[in-house]
Amino acid sequence: MRINAFSDVCLRIIMLLSAMPVFELEKTKVIAQKIDTPYNHVSKAIVRLRELGMIEAVRGRSGGVRISDAGRQATVGWVLRQLDTRTDLADCETPDGLCPLIDGCGLRGALRLAREAFYAALDDVVISSLRQPRSDEPVSVLLGVRPPD
Ligand code: SF4
Repeated sequence: MRINAFSDVCLRIIMLLSAMPVFELEKTKVIAQKIDTPYNHVSKAIVRLRELGMIEAVRGRSGGVRISDAGRQATVGWVLRQLDTRTDLADCETPDGLCPLIDGCGLRGALRLAREAFYAALDDVVISSLRQPRSDEPVSVLLGVRPPD
């Protein structure tokens, strides 16, 4: 299963911010450059991440954004669930209306279960365990696993 482009941008941003010193702020423009993503996309993602309480913003000339404690402790599975607004993985509509097979279709439910299994597999991956290699390299996903409680 693929994550959508918006979720990917959100994850890149929080990975980048989680690798920074705790109270350090980063500007949207700099984030956009560091993750090689258009400014507008980064800006929209930051709005959504703030709504989710994952990042904090400080206004002013020396302001910027940083990851919150909640953001650091959030899991990738939780983040993806919040960002996935689709009710169904399959598009069950045709140009003439709903798919004619929709009554009694078992595939929709199976796809829902498969999506949940995908997210569940990421429920142990906390944001703070995602490491960024070097600041001069593109952000890459190195998945870590939450240590046992
Ligand atoms: S077959 Fe089922 S899952 Fe596929 S489009 Fe039709 S209703 Fe949706």
